[in-house]
Amino acid sequence: MTVETYRHSGGIGALGIPLMCLGGGLTTVTLGVAYAYALAWIPFVYVSFLLTAGFGALVGLVVGICAKLGKVRNPLVAGIIGVFCAILGLYVAWAFDALARFGSDEIPGPMFAPDLLVEYIKYFYEEGFWGIGRANATVSGMFLAAIWAAEAIVLIGLAWLLSSGFISTHPFCENCQTWTNQSEGIAKINPPHGDVSVIEQLCDGQIDAISKFKLCDPEAADYIRIDTAICPTCTESNFVSVYVVETTQDKDGNNKVESKPLKQNMIVSSEETQRLSSILEELSAT
Ligand SMILES: [Zn+2]
Repeated sequence: MTVETYRHSGGIGALGIPLMCLGGGLTTVTLGVAYAYALAWIPFVYVSFLLTAGFGALVGLVVGICAKLGKVRNPLVAGIIGVFCAILGLYVAWAFDALARFGSDEIPGPMFAPDLLVEYIKYFYEEGFWGIGRANATVSGMFLAAIWAAEAIVLIGLAWLLSSGFISTHPFCENCQTWTNQSEGIAKINPPHGDVSVIEQLCDGQIDAISKFKLCDPEAADYIRIDTAICPTCTESNFVSVYVVETTQDKDGNNKVESKPLKQNMIVSSEETQRLSSILEELSAT
């Protein structure tokens, strides 16, 4: 028998959509204007790409936070609103592009009208307004179009990942209409003598299997991490996740900690979470 895991109900709190649209919309319009000026003034294409990534991530994060505040248990809807906000931000950035590049003496104002904007983008495509590399060769035509496409993919992709991802693994108690309290790393454990069968038992929802593990040293590089998510007000919503954590060193000798989920948000009973705490107490006493 395999253990059941938490799945979002798909429900959305009454304030969910208005909050995501308002928070995401205000953020993306503000950032879109700032982004247009930053791109016009900063000549380094690498810095520009970091700005693009930051723009997309921030929009996604704000939509994700609003989704949590608005009790949105629907990552698809949060993701779609995140993407919509990113597209709006990109449009605003394009509308302000000419003004940012050529100043208010030459350009009367932002170009929100689609026909005017299309004319401007065509002109930009043919002429190219910025250069790249040591020779500072002007970028135009297909190469420029490819850079624009990459920019849009990074911006929209990150907005999607963060807006939908922010709520995707956080269990919600439908009983109490509240998010559960998540505790990361309530235990760092290792199987005895590398016996992986106990990990399988644990991932099959057998909480008692933890008694066969050993607590590992707080400084350990590789271990199994146990997280819990428990409703703060009732005994109906209790979830246990199992992660494998590995520390590797990159080529500069910096530690890189990676955690991969083995099982996320297994549905357990309130008694089982109490049993988990008492097993961990016993393990730490020995
Ligand atoms: Zn509850």
